[in-house]
Formats: sequence, structure tokens, C-alpha cells
Amino acid sequence: MNRAEVAPAGSDLPRTPRQRALATAAMLAQNYPAACALDHANPLELLVATILSAQTTDERVNRVTPALFARFPTAADYAGADPGELEELIHAAGFFRAKARSLIGMGRVLCEKFAGEVPDTMEGLTSLPGVGRKTANVILGVAFDQPGFPVDTHVIRVSNRLGLVRVQDPVKIETEICRMVPSHEWTGLSLRLILHGRQVCVARRPRCEVCVLESWCPSSSLRAGRAGRATPKPATGRGTGAAGAPGARPSPRGRPR
Ligand code: SF4
Repeated sequence: MNRAEVAPAGSDLPRTPRQRALATAAMLAQNYPAACALDHANPLELLVATILSAQTTDERVNRVTPALFARFPTAADYAGADPGELEELIHAAGFFRAKARSLIGMGRVLCEKFAGEVPDTMEGLTSLPGVGRKTANVILGVAFDQPGFPVDTHVIRVSNRLGLVRVQDPVKIETEICRMVPSHEWTGLSLRLILHGRQVCVARRPRCEVCVLESWCPSSSLRAGRAGRATPKPATGRGTGAAGAPGARPSPRGRPR
């Protein structure tokens, strides 16, 4: 599917932030999977992987977790871990000393307060060392299939460029977007915004010419060209986004953090 096939045109374009949010959720759902990039088999592994993902890439995390998960399969294993051994296992994920402290602390709190199980509430999750609201929303949405809208740097950038919000604060963004979009779409929308931010709406030079959201994006770099024309240029003729052109559409297999 390419942008020309799915983008609404003319008077059908969404105008308000809420309309754009709903249209964005629908359009991204046609183009990206709601997939979590961190390899995991249960809530504890996802929690550990998400803690490790701070300030590094998912690929790096996925390289260290197989050996880590094999050596430390339970919360009690983290609670009783030797810091040096743990640091060595997670070294490649960066900030290994702080992350090792968080994992040991996480294991201890899980054992002391939650019988060794990962809690499925925002309050319980954010009571764990190394777990903030973003991580908690990942766990809620991905591991427990509960409404959760993780806000990372990609979600902040893309939601502002799309005019869904005009704030940089993650909690305010979460609140505003969750007011506009049904709760069953929160996690999928977040995961897809992350993918879109990585593959198309990248930080330095967004690839507006191949963006499936371009027709209603107030930040599109193609808007200036359209403004000078008496008749809007058809979507099929814009830039290099024609189907078949290199990079003309986002990969459906990319995976978000
Ligand atoms: S049109 Fe450009 S700025 Fe807008 S969402 Fe797409 S890539 Fe980002």
C-alpha cells in the first residue's frame, strides 16, 4: 500500500487535533504492525528489557537478553544477583552499573511486595526501581493488554509535528492523546508512532515525500509547494513517493522500542 492509495484528499482531510489523531491511528494501523521490538517471553522479561533499553537501542538490548534471561529467569534471581556478574551480562547495553542496581532493586521489590510477580497496575509498576511512567505503559499495554500509551522521544516529536499536541511534556502528551483516541487504540498508536518516527518522520530530515500522513500534516515540508499552486497537486504526483520508488513506503516489519 502506498500513500497515494490510502491518503484522504481535499475536503475529507481531518482538520482538528482530534480528527488528525483518529485519522493518524487509522492510517498507521494500515501501514505498521503494533509490535514491540524488545524480545521477551513474559512480563518479567519485558520489564527487564525495557529497563535496559534506556539510552540504547533495542538491538543492543536484544543482544544481551538471551544470556541474561537464561541466567536470571525469576524476580528472586535478580534480587539475589551478584552485581558484578549482572553488570558483565548487561555491559553492552550501556549504563550497566545503574541498570544493574535497578534490576536488583526491581527484583527485591517484586519479591517483597508482589510475591515475585510483575504487577499489572500503573501504581505498582512505578513503585519499582528504574520504572517510570513510559516503561509502565509499555508493560501495561504490551504484556498485560491493558490501555497504556508510552511516550518516548519519537512520540513527542511526531505528535507535535502532526499537530496532535503542542507540548513537549510526556505526561501532558499522554493525557491529551488519550482523551482523543479510544483506549483500545492507545498502545497500538504509540508503537506505530514510534515506528513512523524511526522510519519516516525522522528527527533531522523527515521523509515527508513518502509519508502516509502527509496530506493532513501541518508540518509537511511539501506544504509550501502546494500553497503556491491554484489547484492542489494530486497525491499521486508528489515528490518521490510514488509506489515502487526506493523507500516509497515504510517497512511493515520495522520494530519500535
Ligand atoms: S508529513 Fe513529514 S513532518 Fe509530517 S508526519 Fe509525515 S514525515 Fe513527519
